[in-house]
Amino acid sequence: MQKTHSPLPEKFKTTLPPKEIIELMPRQLLQEFGAFIFSASKNEIKIAALDPENSTLKDFIAERFTDKISWFQATQEDIDFILQNYKRDFKEEILALTEIETGNTTNIVELGDLIIEYALKEKASDIHIEPTRNDVVVRFRIDGILHTMVVLPKEIHAALIARFKILSNLRIDEFRLPQDGRIELENKTSTSLRVSTAPTLYGEKIAMRILDDTHKDISIEHLGFSKEQADILLRNAEKPFGMIVASGPTGSGKTTTLYSLLNLLKKDGINISTLEDPIEYALDGANQIQINTRINLSFASGLRSLLRQDPDVIMIGEIRDSETALMAADAALTGHIVFTTVHTNDAPSVLTRFIEMDVEDFMVVSVVNLVVGQRLVRKVCEHCAKLQKLEPVILKKIEERKDIMQILEKMKVSLSDLKDKTFNTGQGCEACLDTGYLGRVGMFELLELNKEIHDMVLEHASPEKIKDTAEASGFKDMTTDGLEKVFAGITTFEEVLRTTRNT
Ligand SMILES: [Zn+2]
Repeated sequence: MQKTHSPLPEKFKTTLPPKEIIELMPRQLLQEFGAFIFSASKNEIKIAALDPENSTLKDFIAERFTDKISWFQATQEDIDFILQNYKRDFKEEILALTEIETGNTTNIVELGDLIIEYALKEKASDIHIEPTRNDVVVRFRIDGILHTMVVLPKEIHAALIARFKILSNLRIDEFRLPQDGRIELENKTSTSLRVSTAPTLYGEKIAMRILDDTHKDISIEHLGFSKEQADILLRNAEKPFGMIVASGPTGSGKTTTLYSLLNLLKKDGINISTLEDPIEYALDGANQIQINTRINLSFASGLRSLLRQDPDVIMIGEIRDSETALMAADAALTGHIVFTTVHTNDAPSVLTRFIEMDVEDFMVVSVVNLVVGQRLVRKVCEHCAKLQKLEPVILKKIEERKDIMQILEKMKVSLSDLKDKTFNTGQGCEACLDTGYLGRVGMFELLELNKEIHDMVLEHASPEKIKDTAEASGFKDMTTDGLEKVFAGITTFEEVLRTTRNT
């Protein structure tokens, strides 16, 4: 017969029990069994649970506590209230785990899980586990910048590395050679981690890239393209054939831009095929091929076989050699839409880079429709932003940058205007880990190939000359786009100074 239990006292439905009381019970039990302790007096513990009769739960509690236990009935809302309002201090939890006997396997499993969970909560893109002479440093890359999150004792290094190797199906007895693997998360199927190990002076280090499918629906507006820029993108993406090239250094968001274009074109009746290294997001309705040089599946050889699969739209993760460049140009010329990336500092340099990769100049002008140059800058944290004047040191740095001074002049903004103005500035808060920044946005430059640009390419003009010509017909470079975003309160001068170079 079902035993009935008193419901959780009304008071605890709206007020959190003290932290030290909730923490008497491992958080795992809260999540797995929907059970929490809400009161603990000298010799009585009160527990509310979704199923107070669960025998596993009861055994666990009986083992852990000798006090009198009173059970109460919790509802799902009660559990949700606790889960949502009970802020976790991951750093503390991680350190607490490593204080207990090191080498304890259960702790290592929990520790590995906690590190991944912590990284997901902070929206990190990468996790680095790095041994130093005396410690193990755990760093996360958040919004493009590495932060030391927690420093662990060296004693747990071997066990922790082994744990991540097991999770990613790597050989745990191989320490001298780098290995690559992947972790699929059981409870979050949209997220996986690409894992790579490398031997260093103080032992093996692990770097993990977090790949999150839930970002795949990212829209052009969301990335920071203005209405005007979005129109240019659309106009070119809808052309029947030709190339759109995204350019920028590693980590500048090029691939995300291409994904947003693929999302635009995704519809029944067209075959989208991609060659990627790595496949960053799973794209519904597309055939995605992972480059694997170990078995000779390179961008060039992959593209050759892909062209026999009757594609309409082809995305090539990166063009970095002449063979791939020539094949991609050929594919674009023969009626395919080709999206790709080239590693150059700005959009005009892509055109000269193609010529350097042996693509004939007339071929370049025939196939390239649009080049998008880009960088990512951090956004001012909206939780702690305040309007304030620029620091003198920033004003000085601005003054030293000739390129930025020229743009400001075009924008009719003088140094003394800057001194008087106030700008949106993050003060630092919990949400932004005291950095004053949260999330990132792109700064873009879009170079469409019109008649004048064609002529410049055929003359093998320098990227600087191409840029000057383009500016005459309305081209706006990414630094200008960035400064407009500073004046709009989205980012800061520091960010634009950090991510662009003096030209
Ligand atoms: Zn903040």
